[in-house]
Amino acid sequence: MMSRDVVVVDHPLVLHKLTQMRARETPTGTFRRLLKETSMLLGYEATRDLPLASRAIDTPLERMEAPVLANEDVVLVSVLRAGNGILDGMLEILPSARVGYIGLYRDPETLDAVQYYVNLPQDMAGNGAIVLDPMLATGHSAHEAILVVKRHAPAWVRFVALVAAPEGIDHVRERHPDVTIYTAAVDRELNDHGYIMPGLGDAGDRLFGTKPKKSERNLG
Ligand code: URA
Repeated sequence: MMSRDVVVVDHPLVLHKLTQMRARETPTGTFRRLLKETSMLLGYEATRDLPLASRAIDTPLERMEAPVLANEDVVLVSVLRAGNGILDGMLEILPSARVGYIGLYRDPETLDAVQYYVNLPQDMAGNGAIVLDPMLATGHSAHEAILVVKRHAPAWVRFVALVAAPEGIDHVRERHPDVTIYTAAVDRELNDHGYIMPGLGDAGDRLFGTKPKKSERNLG
């Protein structure tokens, strides 16, 4: 673990699964399953300090005051399209969470994030929001997505990425010091195309099988 600003979830299960996801030969179906499993573990950390209330229940033996989530109204925001891979795992552990989507693509020249779709729950003011995107690379899309979410006045915002680059972390931390970032690994650097090195390639393509494996050999 680093500071609370960036929480590196370096649990052995997470690191083992991440290594399999990084490996070029890992097929789409396996990648998708591993991302879902890893996202549950990242989500476990990202929700560790959700406030609890207490509720009176009857066990088969006696009455007790038992802990329950004080406010189950967490909004999960998937940054399309790769964020959906994390969303699947997060919904396993937060089944009643509401879901928003933000569509951003990266301008290949400037690497700026360009918004093409936003659909967030209208009444999310005061709720917690967890923004999901597997690769925190330049940080431009993360910054843009967090800005969009903040316009809806959430009580707090967290960001969950599978892999982060130091450049992306700095970019987001400078603009959103209130947002804690959760990730399984902080990699070495970005390459000239904005890919995380060593990384795992294009997370969306690996998750959805949209590019033949051959093209991934030329990312570096
Ligand atoms: N997006 C990806 O999918 N992979 C990277 O390495 C960087 C951005």
